[in-house]
Amino acid sequence: MKINIAIDGPSASGKSTIAKRLAKILDYVHIDTGSMYRATAYKALKNGIHLDDEASVVEMLDHTEFDFTAQGQLIMDGNLVGHEVRNTECDRGSSQVSRLQNVRAKLVSIQQKITLKKGFILDGRDIGTVVLPDAELKIFQVAFLLERAKRRHQEFHEKGNPLSFDEVYEDLRSRDIADSTRTYSPLKKADDAIELDTSFLSIDETVEKITQLYQETVERLNQHD
Ligand code: C5P
Repeated sequence: MKINIAIDGPSASGKSTIAKRLAKILDYVHIDTGSMYRATAYKALKNGIHLDDEASVVEMLDHTEFDFTAQGQLIMDGNLVGHEVRNTECDRGSSQVSRLQNVRAKLVSIQQKITLKKGFILDGRDIGTVVLPDAELKIFQVAFLLERAKRRHQEFHEKGNPLSFDEVYEDLRSRDIADSTRTYSPLKKADDAIELDTSFLSIDETVEKITQLYQETVERLNQHD
């Protein structure tokens, strides 16, 4: 039996890393919905579109093609979306475009279309509340801001990004506020989501914990069949 899994949580809580590992273990397809907001910001910036200009960003999306590989990697206008959207500009830009209601509507509709079948793990901010309200397993993954900033700073350091710890901390703090206070689909735990604090858990421990929750969910659903 296959189900759909929603993983939501604040920036740098490790959602994508965990979702990727889980997808491999369970033979599921992982879709990182944040990459769609990042790619939107990336293309808008490249085309000189102001990220607060909703009409122009939406118009751009009308002429943008999103696709996914069999493994769930995002393709925009025929090109695989990769490291070019993982920088400070796109961190901030994605948070900015994600406030726009009609941008969200477009991206959510694409996400819902590809998950009509089961077997998907989606990570983001609004998966359990808006994109997949019927997901059989919903995880709300959190971690202390300090811990998330340490992880993100380490990641940046390894990639040669010169941002200081204080800058990374401040960036995450302001994205947390922006993501959880925006009008449309703010970051919020779904009522039926399971909160998982990973501040003191390793990646392996987190994966193990969610795999266990997955097995319990499938067993429970099988019993009801
Ligand atoms: O997850 P990631 O940090 O890559 O997401 C980038 C930005 O996209 C987030 O800061 C958030 O503003 C936005 N986002 C969103 N809804 C999602 C996924 C990401 O608003 N489902």
